[in-house]
Amino acid sequence: MSKKYKRIETEVIHDGYDDKQMLGSLTPPIFQTSTYTFESAEQGERRFLGEEDGYIYSRLGNPTVSILEQKIASLENGERGLAFSSGMAAVSAILIALTKANDHVLCSSGLYGCTYGLLSMMKEKYHMSMDFSDMGNEDEVRAKIKPETAVIYIETPINPTMRLVDLEMVVKVAKDFDIPIVVDNTFSTPYLQKPLELGCDVVLHSATKYIGGHGDVIGGLAVGKKDFLNEVAVTTQKDIGGVIAPFDAWLLIRGLKTLPLRMDRHCSNAEKLLGQLKDHPHVSRVFYPHDYSNLDYDIGKRQMKQGGGVISFEIKGTKKDAQKFLNRLSFIKLAVSLGDAQTLIEHPATMTHAVIPEETRNQMGITDQLIRLSVGLEAWEDIWDDLKQALDQI
Ligand SMILES: *Cc1c(COP(=O)(O)O)cnc(C)c1O
Repeated sequence: MSKKYKRIETEVIHDGYDDKQMLGSLTPPIFQTSTYTFESAEQGERRFLGEEDGYIYSRLGNPTVSILEQKIASLENGERGLAFSSGMAAVSAILIALTKANDHVLCSSGLYGCTYGLLSMMKEKYHMSMDFSDMGNEDEVRAKIKPETAVIYIETPINPTMRLVDLEMVVKVAKDFDIPIVVDNTFSTPYLQKPLELGCDVVLHSATKYIGGHGDVIGGLAVGKKDFLNEVAVTTQKDIGGVIAPFDAWLLIRGLKTLPLRMDRHCSNAEKLLGQLKDHPHVSRVFYPHDYSNLDYDIGKRQMKQGGGVISFEIKGTKKDAQKFLNRLSFIKLAVSLGDAQTLIEHPATMTHAVIPEETRNQMGITDQLIRLSVGLEAWEDIWDDLKQALDQI
């Protein structure tokens, strides 16, 4: 796709919208309509046949939603974008589109809890199988691929352990077997990492997080090849129906405008807090992509422009100590989202990753002592003061 704007800071604001086509409206209008009228019966027939472009019904397309889809396609450097009612609506539409009964899915060694839940359900209902791999090197990936492997599904950074997967390396292996790679890019956003440019096939987002950025909307996005996403649009999206509301699409369009500014601040705050956390006597380990002690530091430096806004750390003590620490925080909010202006904190073992059986969870490194911090946009000194007073009391 030829790019209209060279730099992402301009792209997030201007791409995908032409005010001249909308009566000069500076911001995109919210097309709050369920359906669209046809000028004639013949036109209706042509639209349903796909012989004429134009809107039919808002589950099949909406002009406000189209602007968002165009924007995310440009930002990820993909051919087509598709917006959904939630990140999970995007994940499920893509996974269902790419698999059939008895297929195998190879996953990175950590998955968003509900993605794990979805795959477990598909395993039960459709006799599918799934495997996890650290994907540490080519041989490790190759060894896990089966004749029935239909998808390689990757989160990097892995939530909440902050391990990374070398996407270029996995692409090399997957091409030999002609298996599509799907990447959940929620934690990095296209500002920090562009998997399609590295040869991956589909990028997914929970737009609820950094893309929305203000904790006021649930949404999902997918980007990839035009043919594939067109097919998803008229099958697993249209027929299952997880489409985004026009107002929610509008909020995401608004959020995107400040994505680069916000990400810079999330990342610089995180870097500052990282140093403080490492020095605190009640913190045993810290996990962050661009931290030199991270096992995947080299991949992080190569693949991600900055380390992102999420830090995980282990406190010294028990599960009870972890809970006491969380209860003592003042303005840092105890909540299970991320990417918002407010700093949010949570306990993965009992919250976001509680659906994963304890043994698997421990193998993934999600211990009872692990805390996940979504660093907000506040002054980092204030965030640290709050964390410190709670840590001091453990
Ligand atoms: C939140 C999240 C999801 C699910 O997104 P929703 O918008 O909550 O449906 C998927 N993947 C990751 C990495 C997430 O953080």
